[in-house]
Amino acid sequence: MTPTILVVEDNEQNLYLTTFLLESRGYRVVPARSGAEGLDLATRIRPELIVLDIQLPGMDGYAVARELRQNPDLNETPIVAVTSYAMAGDRERVLAAGCSGYIEKPIDPGTFRDEIGSYLKAPSADGGSVS
Ligand code: MN
Repeated sequence: MTPTILVVEDNEQNLYLTTFLLESRGYRVVPARSGAEGLDLATRIRPELIVLDIQLPGMDGYAVARELRQNPDLNETPIVAVTSYAMAGDRERVLAAGCSGYIEKPIDPGTFRDEIGSYLKAPSADGGSVS
């Protein structure tokens, strides 16, 4: 089955690039342009992974991640934060909010798909292996 990835990103250029890269790897991409839209879509489509921009208008990525982690259906879903913040401590803040990992902007097209793929290879909840 094709994994579905929810991409929460308010910047059209970043959304376009992210979507292009992930679709070229065969993933199904569902876009959300705000934190609220991302939460709504995540609940409804139950994606295999969520790519989450941290700098969003209104509800930021930290708040979105915390909300996602309070939903039992989405508690195990990998969340990969994407942020251009370069300050020390951001990684810890991202992980403390419930994200599984962290990719820095600008997105590197040469490594982005492999990084995302590494989060999708986590063992499934039923313990089954993927061959
Ligand atoms: Mn943004």
